[in-house]
Amino acid sequence: MKRLCVFCGSSPGSNSNYVQTARDLGTEMVRHGIDLVYGGASIGMMGAIADCVVEAGGKVTGIIPRHLADKEVAFTDLSDLRIVESMHQRKALMEELSDGFIALPGGLGTIEEIFEVWTWAQLNMHHKPCGLLNVCGYYDNLLKFLDHTVTQQFVQPDHRTMIVVEDDPQKLLERFHTYVPPVTDKAKWALGLNKN
Ligand code: AMP
Repeated sequence: MKRLCVFCGSSPGSNSNYVQTARDLGTEMVRHGIDLVYGGASIGMMGAIADCVVEAGGKVTGIIPRHLADKEVAFTDLSDLRIVESMHQRKALMEELSDGFIALPGGLGTIEEIFEVWTWAQLNMHHKPCGLLNVCGYYDNLLKFLDHTVTQQFVQPDHRTMIVVEDDPQKLLERFHTYVPPVTDKAKWALGLNKN
């Protein structure tokens, strides 16, 4: 695994453990020789992980839409800062450049980004691991809701378990290294041809 994309809040959140875990993940990535791809901002959780990877001598690629860069939130000191024209272009480039995707705690932007790449995985558009770093149980209620989507038969069990969940950066990276994507066909499942 050469490059990991990390989605996380543009805010720091209410608990200092969130920012601390962003830094811990950055440190673990550098220790494993993994480069960071992220949203290119200098603020909140995003700024924390990028700062940490730069400080530890790792490589960071930031990808930010022009309208956000113009608001002066871009991390302008990055050696590889790419300005794109839209949020759609940003996500497409993040997906193309990365070998896996992790969401740390964050808000709507973070949740939307991880759900989009996870959706692409369930449609076999890529076979890269997607994971949640569930710091201080931040995602517990979302995980309960995701179980409900399975019991109500809107989500295939294999697609639910595709998202790797850990509360510790090192454990999450270990599980990414051994990740095996499920072999599924969403269209067939939706038609009731291979329910499992
Ligand atoms: P949120 O979780 O809503 O704070 O949004 C964070 C995610 O959305 C990041 O992963 C970014 O890709 C994007 N995003 C939202 N707000 C900003 C911002 N002010 N600057 C850069 N990216 C942002």
